[in-house]
Amino acid sequence: MHGNYERLIYFLKNFLKDENIKISESMKKHTTFNIGGPCDIMIFPESEYEFIKSMKEIIDKKFPYFILGSGSNIIVKDGGIRGIVINLTKFNKISVKENIINAKAGAKLCDISNIACKNSLSGFEFACGIPGTIGGAVTMNAGAYDGEMSHVIHKVKVMDYEGNIFDIYNENMDFGYRSTVIMKKKYVVIDCDILLQFGDKNKIQENINDFTIRRNLKQPLDYPSAGSVFKRPEGYFAGKLIEDSDLRGYIHKNAMVSDKHCGFIVNRSCANSKDVLELIDIIKRKVYENFKVELELEVRIIGEDKEN
Ligand SMILES: Cc1cc2nc3c(=O)[nH]c(=O)nc-3n(C[C@H](O)[C@H](O)[C@H](O)COP(=O)(O)OP(=O)(O)OC[C@H]3O[C@@H](n4cnc5c(N)ncnc54)[C@H](O)[C@@H]3O)c2cc1C
Repeated sequence: MHGNYERLIYFLKNFLKDENIKISESMKKHTTFNIGGPCDIMIFPESEYEFIKSMKEIIDKKFPYFILGSGSNIIVKDGGIRGIVINLTKFNKISVKENIINAKAGAKLCDISNIACKNSLSGFEFACGIPGTIGGAVTMNAGAYDGEMSHVIHKVKVMDYEGNIFDIYNENMDFGYRSTVIMKKKYVVIDCDILLQFGDKNKIQENINDFTIRRNLKQPLDYPSAGSVFKRPEGYFAGKLIEDSDLRGYIHKNAMVSDKHCGFIVNRSCANSKDVLELIDIIKRKVYENFKVELELEVRIIGEDKEN
């Protein structure tokens, strides 16, 4: 192992549990696509203290790093990730004060949605079936069923690439379609305040049930995937363009255009990133040939190619 990594691990062991530092961890286990080679080091901070102390050291010593939520919007290449992956899924505390929910970056959207319902708080139902963390969702302004993060986020606590920590209020988030200032400036979300309205608990639960049924009907949830691969092009739907290019159920090696929802690529069994990236190229080419529309990726591609 690289000598500098040994010094970093020695430092991290002062405050992270041994089981929260993993060497050469396969990214397959940490992405909903079940794809990706190993990262050099993966750490799992459990508290704000552990997260910030780790981040400051990593930034200070100029290690390359990648912030990981649930890994539900990424394709990690087969050569894996060089540097430190900060896995936030154990940094997931959620607390409620009146109609504001504070969620640490690694809190799951479904858990926030259920806690909102238990507290008769309405407005977060749209996010119940998005399989990500609040940190990942805020960063890309995730949305579904006419709702999106921009409608409910009050304030986000972030760290910049120099380790400075500050709040960004909703009006300064520069929310766009699947984009925010956080994404543009590569800030790291530490936690956020979600502002909801008091409502009728039964009605909120009904909305959650309805969205869950709709998702189960439309999405290939029985296969590993990263959700919609492409952004919605203006004036079109990516899934429809793909379907109209005769690609429904199209198989390329171990990757497949879902026959249930053409906007999804699914991992049929043991696909690697190469299979998926080649299929993405095929889809983009066919859609362009047929409709002169350039599909843009919604998923993020991370890591290195595997050397042969
Ligand atoms: C079956 C399925 C259905 C989906 N449905 C939807 C949907 O309806 N709507 C929708 O918008 N998306 C959907 N997605 C995509 C995905 O769940 C969302 O984009 C989600 O918000 C990603 O969160 P994550 O924690 O998994 O992020 P990750 O995939 O772990 O990371 C995504 C990006 O965010 C960055 N990031 C993660 N956490 C932080 C943080 N704390 N600070 C800074 N950057 C961070 C990462 O570095 C990476 O660049 C779906 C995915 C699947 C698999």
